[in-house]
Amino acid sequence: MSKIDTILKRARAGEELSVEDLVALLSITEADELQMLFDCAYFLKEQYVGKIAYFRGIIECSNLCIKDCYYCGIRKSNTSVERFQMDEDEIFTEAVWAYEADYGSCVIQSGERQDEEYILMIERVVTRIKKATDGKLGITLSLGEQTEETYARWRQAGAHRYLLRIETTNPEIYAKIHPADHLLEERKACLARLRRTGYQVGTGVMMGLPGQTMEDLANDILFLKQIDIDMVGMGPYIPHSDTPMGKEIPSYTDEQKKDALQLGLKMIAVTRIVMKDINIAAATALQALEYTGREQGLRCGANVIMPNVTETDFRPKYQLYDNKPCTDENSSLCRGCLSGRIKGIGETVGFGEWGDSPHFHSRNGTEAT
Ligand code: SAH
Ligand code: SF4
Repeated sequence: MSKIDTILKRARAGEELSVEDLVALLSITEADELQMLFDCAYFLKEQYVGKIAYFRGIIECSNLCIKDCYYCGIRKSNTSVERFQMDEDEIFTEAVWAYEADYGSCVIQSGERQDEEYILMIERVVTRIKKATDGKLGITLSLGEQTEETYARWRQAGAHRYLLRIETTNPEIYAKIHPADHLLEERKACLARLRRTGYQVGTGVMMGLPGQTMEDLANDILFLKQIDIDMVGMGPYIPHSDTPMGKEIPSYTDEQKKDALQLGLKMIAVTRIVMKDINIAAATALQALEYTGREQGLRCGANVIMPNVTETDFRPKYQLYDNKPCTDENSSLCRGCLSGRIKGIGETVGFGEWGDSPHFHSRNGTEAT
């Protein structure tokens, strides 16, 4: 039996894997072994969360940002971006669109703002969406670092899940890809605040960052397990040409794209093997590397997809990385083509369901919705 076979067998039997085991799995390049890894992750996915893909309609409501992350196309110092901010009515309309399309949940995402005007607007729109949909549309927020009070206000208004990526748990890499006042410790503190305020908490990392090793990524996965996360959203780092990091490595060659996709899929598979009953999103960035990247993510253990429901006019202004897909497709087209492709791989779409993380409910002894 090969080394990989043995590790996967131990994983299936419920044994804890070591950092060396994870490095071995993440380092697989040979086709047969890759298939074994993906099959093992899919087997566990089927057992623990089922062959159902949940949709979260993502509303990218503003590209104003007070932060300056070196990798991100909407960082505050990028002067070539035309800034926009949707108003309350526009966000509300898109959330209702997602509800009527039977998506079950929406995600409200934007650049980071910590001013009271913004906090209040989000609080009001969350309350309004909840009321108009009779509490039925699940609301996830992805609005960056905030105080505990702000998280609590938005939770109180009706949001019940929050996504905030740790980006990388390696302190040196974190310091290289952010300005000095963006602190890894503050990210960790925010994740703890989110947990205390009662959210289902999602986090994740970018893969393929300069200087990042397989050991770093293995440690990232073990960190997610250690903080007992409910949801994971991670994706390949993709350069944006107007950013400091994108200027160093401007764009990927076809070969680099292939490698980045393969690494993204391996990370999903290994995360599923380590944390069996959590929700894992197949990031849109996978689709930027290959058209069917997200469906491939589902085949490797992911169970959540976030179709864009943002008004098409705004989409080109929310370019976190170059060649972001679906910027010119309207929301109904996205819905149609995605559901078709998901059925094509033998899965059903969990229309009309929140699709909560089973892990969250088993930790809290509550019922999934
Ligand atoms: N401002 C919020 C939400 C928007 S950014 C926040 O930062 O949490 C959402 C995610 O986009 C970030 O967490 C980051 O991981 C990802 N992202 C930004 N630039 C990227 C790039 N160049 N390639 C891949 N992902 C990127
Ligand atoms: Fe702003 Fe988020 Fe981009 Fe950082 S990653 S610059 S916080 S939008």
